[in-house]
Amino acid sequence: MCATMSPLALFGGPRAVDGDPGDTFSWPIVTENDEAAVLDVLRRGAMSDTDVTEAFETEFAAWQGRDYALAFTNGTAALLAAMFSVGVGVGDEIICPSLTYWASALPAFSLGATVVFADIAPDTLCIDPDDIEHRITGRTKAIVVVHYMGHPADMDPILAVAARHGIPIIEDVSHAHGGLYKGRVLGTLGGVAAMSLMSGKSLPIGEGGMLVTDDREIYERGVAFGHYRRFDGTIQSPALRDYRYLPIGGIKGRMNQFSSAMGRVQLREYDDRATEVRAAINAFWDALEGVPGLRAHRVSPTGDSTMAGWYAAGGHYVPAELGGLSVTRFAEAVQAEGSSCRPGINRPLHLHPLFNTCDVYGHGKPTRIANANRDLRQPHGSLPVSEGIGALTYGIPQFKRYRVEVISQHAAAYRKVAEHAETLMDGDPGNPASLCGWGI
Ligand SMILES: *Cc1c(COP(=O)(O)O)cnc(C)c1O
Repeated sequence: MCATMSPLALFGGPRAVDGDPGDTFSWPIVTENDEAAVLDVLRRGAMSDTDVTEAFETEFAAWQGRDYALAFTNGTAALLAAMFSVGVGVGDEIICPSLTYWASALPAFSLGATVVFADIAPDTLCIDPDDIEHRITGRTKAIVVVHYMGHPADMDPILAVAARHGIPIIEDVSHAHGGLYKGRVLGTLGGVAAMSLMSGKSLPIGEGGMLVTDDREIYERGVAFGHYRRFDGTIQSPALRDYRYLPIGGIKGRMNQFSSAMGRVQLREYDDRATEVRAAINAFWDALEGVPGLRAHRVSPTGDSTMAGWYAAGGHYVPAELGGLSVTRFAEAVQAEGSSCRPGINRPLHLHPLFNTCDVYGHGKPTRIANANRDLRQPHGSLPVSEGIGALTYGIPQFKRYRVEVISQHAAAYRKVAEHAETLMDGDPGNPASLCGWGI
């Protein structure tokens, strides 16, 4: 078919998506309850106190199913403290997937440690369980597992590797609060978990992070690292008690109580809201079942794993089923239909200059090498799945409400473009050298 005859909106045809989406995409959801809770803190001038935050921690720990929850200014600080709490220090190594937000990895640099990246599995987009063990050395102090874009990592083989070598797992649950892996709650599978609660995340509290664990020693190390006022007589660990009242990490990690107040309200609503998000996104994918080139990135909707609050939902792209059409051109046509489609996911961290050439701390050589005392940089070609995945993925509309009419219009846009892929071949510029950015 010639392009001018195509019904695609890109060529002047009618758009598949029209009308007002209403609240379908509004996020975060803020009600009078959030406002009242934050106003109470404001009127009391209690922003820098810890009464609300400690109540939030108690409720969070109960919801998460762990003994301890410790709040931080943001997820990055919680991850830094989690790494410290399991013993990551000078000259050590952590193993982390290359496809993740930078905060899963970079705090290791601040602790004098370095990062060894593992590849991802092409289906889950999470760390590949078969690409971990051969990267373990005597200096490996933690394996960071990210439940990426809501998808639970395949934990059974990862837990087995970690147990064989006695290495703690840090779960980064920033994309998957409350999700399930074979019936078990994400964030309870490793020795410690940390997560972001910033306002774009599925559990949005303003700005904040949380560390959770069942281990008193890990919890106390988290307190000692960044909570000087709480690093007091309650601390039991003999190794820590001498240093009380000053934060041994030189970090002030206290959460602003505007955030913990909002967090208490958001947590009460969270499970219901996440259920609705899952219903919405599953409906989108159900409507696209069998469409060439497009595959859901999801677990079975009827199994005992879940996509949590389905943060940064996306899909797999199979260009071979669409005549080799690039995801860039595909996304352009979907956008013209009035829907949203972002080609690619995160760029692979191991190729960023910060992990290759940057001397952050004045060692006279790149930090990546200086912190390990050997060159463990991973050049182009070393993590092929992470490097190639951009061309095979895209972000879909971030449905937050189950609005059937809106969802079916967006699904129709994707279906229409896939079914007319051949009319897009002519103007296909191909994909740029790198898709997407560093932000997911
Ligand atoms: C958002 C995010 C973080 C960092 O959390 P902040 O609250 O933004 O500091 C860490 N890891 C992942 C995977 C994230 O998406």
